[in-house]
Amino acid sequence: MGVPVSQMWTVASYVLGKKLRGVKRYPLVLMLEPLFRCNLACAGCGKIQHPADVLRRHLTPEQCFKAVDECGVPLVSIPGGEPLLHPQIEEIVAGLVARKKYIYLCTNAILLEKYLDKFKPSKYLSFSIHLDGPQKEHDFAVCREGVYDVAVSAIKAAVAKGFRVTTNTTVYNNADPKAMRQMFDTLMGFGVEGMMISPGYPYEKAPGQELFLHRNQTASLFRRLLGNPKRDWRFNLSPLFLEFLKGKWQLECTPWGMPAYNLFGWQRPCYLLNEGYCETFQELLDTTDWSEYGQASGNPKCADCMVHCGYEATAVAQTFGSLKSFGRVAWLTMFGVEREELPPDDRSPPRGDETQSSADEERLRRLKLPVLSS
Ligand code: SF4
Ligand code: SF4
Repeated sequence: MGVPVSQMWTVASYVLGKKLRGVKRYPLVLMLEPLFRCNLACAGCGKIQHPADVLRRHLTPEQCFKAVDECGVPLVSIPGGEPLLHPQIEEIVAGLVARKKYIYLCTNAILLEKYLDKFKPSKYLSFSIHLDGPQKEHDFAVCREGVYDVAVSAIKAAVAKGFRVTTNTTVYNNADPKAMRQMFDTLMGFGVEGMMISPGYPYEKAPGQELFLHRNQTASLFRRLLGNPKRDWRFNLSPLFLEFLKGKWQLECTPWGMPAYNLFGWQRPCYLLNEGYCETFQELLDTTDWSEYGQASGNPKCADCMVHCGYEATAVAQTFGSLKSFGRVAWLTMFGVEREELPPDDRSPPRGDETQSSADEERLRRLKLPVLSS
């Protein structure tokens, strides 16, 4: 099962409608963060470093609905923190489903299986399960042993109950292309609808700084990850964004395409950077100097960023923006990528640092991962 036709139609008609009306900047996906609290503490996370009084708070359902109504997006992603820790998460989801918004509820899945009965299967609701690699790599990334197995069990349970299930993988520079490709096979075998994959953003506050990819490393690694793709792999991303990750298509960031709303308001300029907050979405649009962001701006904070929340909306807009882009997407959709990619079993590290693999292994050995006990 792939993305429902109704969702594709909703997105296409929304983007074309904006284009026909000459709207230059519009949001496509709201990144709605109802809380920052989490039951994990991943090495690459830039969201859980708030003080305890902030971590205890959460948005009310009414605040969530107001933000969604205000910006008018067709798609809502609910990251966090861990959204399933929100005491009214089922009320938030039900309210968004009633508004006919397509929701991606992002979760580390620790609580998912236990909470499944709080939700009803719907074409508007997808669980987006955080999986940063196969078992060893995922447990290492989330700094706790056993989380991969819990997530896999939750995926199977949710699929069996008729829910839409996708996966959400953040890639770091220690990714093993061969193992990741085997994971794509495994996930498709579980019956997931599609896989989302994106490089990690080098958050200043994240403890695992050495794990983040630089831009040239990203293209090299993603060619190894995605080259010669299997026919049954489905990615929950625009084909142009996947080409961009492989360094084969040029995109510029459009941060207003996936705005972030959280406890403090509308975050300027994007989900990743925190340069102040606005009270309304219109204020965010009108008072942000957008020329200061994106790779072309020369802003060092954007130099290595190739994250989906900056570029996926650009890719969707481009698809409907020119015959060349539309033709490219049609070609990629019908025939897949050309077969000239790097061999899939090339496991050499992408960063040109041959000592890094053994450093990764040493770090894995030294890390005493706490064991999951939920
Ligand atoms: S599961 Fe997500 S929100 Fe929680 S610590 Fe990990 S990256 Fe951060
Ligand atoms: S390039 Fe990345 S960090 Fe910079 S504005 Fe865009 S999404 Fe944010």
